Formats: sequence, C-alpha cells, structure tokens
Amino acid sequence: MTEHDDRVSRALDAIRVHLRSEAEFGLEALSRAARSPAPVESRAVPPVEPRIEPRVEPRTETPADSRTAPPAAPARPVESPPPRPTPVAAAAAPRSDFVPRVAPLRERLGSADARAALDALEADVAACTRCKLHATRTCTVPGEGHANPDLLFIGEGPGEEEDRSGRPFVGRAGELLTKIIGAMGFSRETVHIANIVKCRPPGNRVPEPDEIAACQPYLTRQIELLKPKLICTLGLPATRTILGITQGIKAARGREFVWNGIPVIPTFHPAYLLRNPDDKPLVWQDAQTIVRRLIGLGATLPNPDALKKFKDPPPDAAP
Ligand code: SF4
Repeated sequence: MTEHDDRVSRALDAIRVHLRSEAEFGLEALSRAARSPAPVESRAVPPVEPRIEPRVEPRTETPADSRTAPPAAPARPVESPPPRPTPVAAAAAPRSDFVPRVAPLRERLGSADARAALDALEADVAACTRCKLHATRTCTVPGEGHANPDLLFIGEGPGEEEDRSGRPFVGRAGELLTKIIGAMGFSRETVHIANIVKCRPPGNRVPEPDEIAACQPYLTRQIELLKPKLICTLGLPATRTILGITQGIKAARGREFVWNGIPVIPTFHPAYLLRNPDDKPLVWQDAQTIVRRLIGLGATLPNPDALKKFKDPPPDAAP
C-alpha cells in the first residue's frame, strides 16, 4: 500500500466514523450531505431533521410520495438512495397495517351497518315471547345470508331441522332450494333466506294468523334492513302474508307484485315440490323470470354461466 493509499484509507475511516455518529442521531440527510465536500453542511442540516420524519411517513403510502414530499433539503437528490432502508422500514410497519384496514372497511361499510342492525334484530328475536311459538321452540330461526342481497327468499316457518340448527331451509326442502338458488346463478351466501315466523310451529303446521301477526314486525324490519332488489315468496302462507292477496299460489306464482316498492314474485314452496315433482318446471320457469327481472333491475349474477342453461336467456345479459 502506498502512502497515498494509506492516507485515503485513513480519510475513509474518519468519514465512516463521522457518518456512524451522525446516523446515531438519526440524521440520515446529513450523512449524505457529509459525503459532499463541506462537513459544515451537515451542521446546517439539523433543522432538516424534523422534516425528514414527516417525509418518511407519506413515503410509505406510495414510493413516488417519498420523492415529492421533501421540499427543501439541499442534499435531497443524493438523500434518497442510501439511508432510506432504516427509516422506511421503520415507518412501513404501521403504514402497511393501516392501509389495508381502511380500504376493506370502506367497501364493507354498507354491509357492516346492515349486519350490525341484523344482529340486533336477531338478538331481539332470540329473546322474543310475543307469541305462543316461543314455548315450544328449540332455536329461533331469524334467517341467514347476505346483509345487502339482491334477492330475498321468504318461506313459511322453520321445520324440525331448522328448529334444531337455528338455520332456515336446511332439511330436504332446503337442499332443493339451495339447488334452485345455484341454478339461478346465486348461492345461499349471496342471497338472503327468511321466514314469516321465526319459531317452529309444532308438528310443522301452518303458522296461525295471531303468530304471523305477532312476528310480522320482525319480518318487516328485516326487509327494510336488507333492502333486496326483489323478493321471492315461497308458498301460499308467505305470499299471502307479504302481499295480502286472496288468490291461490297457482294463480299468483310467476307474476310480479309489489311490496313497499319492492317487486315480489311468488313461486311454489320447495316442500311442495318434493311432494309434487311434476311442478318443478314451473318453479324453474319462475326462477328464470326472477333472474331476468333482477338483471333488469341492475343486479349482477355471481355466476353468470348459469344463464347458459336458461331456456331463453336475455340476449343483453348473456355472459
Ligand atoms: S314466532 Fe316470532 S313472534 Fe312468535 S315467539 Fe317467535 S320470534 Fe316471537
């Protein structure tokens, strides 16, 4: 090693020591400034220090921010590359925590609000003794599904398995309804399923008028919270409860009625279909009517491929 090399080496050592000591004070800008000829500049930088911190924060949002944020600092262009790693890493942790939390919350806000209100309603139902059905129930069955659905199914009342599980339409009729919902391009999770009474009538009898009347405020509130684009009533008791009509289900099915501004299309109850499988094509026909109407109302099918099986899919809605 020549004498010159030795001098350079010692000078570099001195610079390293200096930089380390500056770094200990968190003066990353200074350390770069110190590379420039005058060490005096590094003294002048302390006022910049507070500026460095605010700059580092916005920078974690987008890499571009970090470049635009620091307005002044003389040594700025040189600053960006070297000392970044440490402060950025430190600031990135809280930021990356924060950003994902905010974005999904905003998207879910409507549903979260509706879900919270539905939870409160379900708690009321769980404690309800407004009619005699409370005395024989195992579980209340308020309904389940999406909190802001395009499509709401309303059936009659919980059966034995629903009473045991607290979930609507989980027996054989429920399995059939689930298949119908799937054929329509939806799933149980993307629609909502409810009943006109939330407790099981003993022996699966039809709910009595006083029971329906006692439970109706819950159903009305439920529909107001769910705000479906369309309601499909399943069977005569649900259809008459919602629409107040006197005609039979065979006359009403597949036709469009309106409840408080919401289109209502009745069809047969799946339990009826289990006993009368020859009428399944009629329900399929009603299901297609419902989907076409929903598309006309601006609904988006979660599974648009389902339309391929429609006898007469609407041309403008085909996938
Ligand atoms: S059926 Fe309805 S009104 Fe009757 S006890 Fe159950 S929740 Fe209350």
